[in-house]
Order: sequence, then structure tokens, then C-alpha cells
Amino acid sequence: MNKRFRVKFTVMTEAPLHSPRSRAALKVCGECNLCCTVYDTPDMGKKAGQTCQHSKSDGGCGIWGLHPESCQDFKCLWLKHDDLNGLWRPDTAGFVMRFEAEGNSLCVDVDPQRPNHWRREPYYDQLKLWSEGIRRGDSRVLVYAVEGLYVVTPDEDLLLRKPRRGDRLETGMEYTLFGLTPFARIVPAAQIRQLKRA
Ligand code: SF4
Ligand code: SF4
Repeated sequence: MNKRFRVKFTVMTEAPLHSPRSRAALKVCGECNLCCTVYDTPDMGKKAGQTCQHSKSDGGCGIWGLHPESCQDFKCLWLKHDDLNGLWRPDTAGFVMRFEAEGNSLCVDVDPQRPNHWRREPYYDQLKLWSEGIRRGDSRVLVYAVEGLYVVTPDEDLLLRKPRRGDRLETGMEYTLFGLTPFARIVPAAQIRQLKRA
């Protein structure tokens, strides 16, 4: 069963939370342009991890207004979610957050210049809290790091290679000698094709 991932962004901070309407309307990228580094931008001929040639060193886009539609369409979770305060703005946090298309994976895309910032507080504790969803089977937390893909679980962070096109990421809970334990594995595209033929 694939339920929608409804994350309650209860962040562990003493900063006051304002009403969703007023804050949402005020949120802008400001000096942040981390998504201009962490993602592939085929329109700009750049790969994930490379900084776009139009990215300004003091923040923002050098061709703002003429930037491609794919850039205009992207809005990270910090921008969209009122309850994520300034600590979670990607240029401060050192990572960009988004939901994957099916909506049950909270993805953390790490700034390659700050590969371990997601492990700092308050981020790491919060990611661990959100990772409880793997026990319920309704959500998961994925960290796309330089060294691979971490499936964050309440117990441990499971490191896998990053999935390639057509691969399937399977996660959940399974019984082991140590009781009910989280698991994660990549099913390669070739194996999926083979299974379909069988
Ligand atoms: S990462 Fe988010 S806040 Fe930063 S520039 Fe991109 S959309 Fe704006
Ligand atoms: S064109 Fe502008 S918005 Fe798009 S990736 Fe480059 S700097 Fe970012």
C-alpha cells in the first residue's frame, strides 16, 4: 500500500512559528541558490554537483527572468513549507529537501561542499524523527550524499549505491535474528526486466 507521505514539520527550535498564510507569502529564496548546484540542469548543460555558470557568488541567478522553465518550476520544501524556519533554508542547512514524485519519500540532496552538514543538529535529530515512517510503512527519508544514498532509519543509516535509471529502491521492515529491523536494497533494472519476462 502506498499512502501519501504527510510530513508534519514540527521542527525542534525555539523560534516562534507564525501563521502559515503570512509566512508562506513572505518566503523567497533570498541569497540561496543551492538548487543551482545540487541538481542536473540539462537546459544549462550542467550536471548535479556542478555550480551553474549563472549562479552569482553573492546569491541568486545572474539571468533571473530569462532562466529556464525547469529552474522557474522548482521549489524546494523549505520554500513551500511554512513550518521550516530559517535554519532550514538550504544555503544555511547545507542541503535541499524535496519530495520524490510518488510523494512518500522525503529526499535530502546534500551540498557536495558540505557533505556532512545533514548530520549536524538540529537537522539529524529531526530527520531521525521523520524516519519513523519506515516502521509504519508509509514514508521514508532518503539522503543523497556524495558517497551514496542513505536510507535513514530510527536505528541506523543504511548506505546504498545511488539508484540508476530503471532501478527500484525497496525499503521496509523485516524479521531478522534481532527482531523487526529496517531494510533497504536496490533492485537493478536488469533484474526487474528479467522478473517481468519470467
Ligand atoms: S534551494 Fe530552495 S530556497 Fe534555495 S534557491 Fe532553490 S528553491 Fe530557492
Ligand atoms: S539558470 Fe539561474 S536559476 Fe537556473 S540553475 Fe542557473 S543560476 Fe540557477
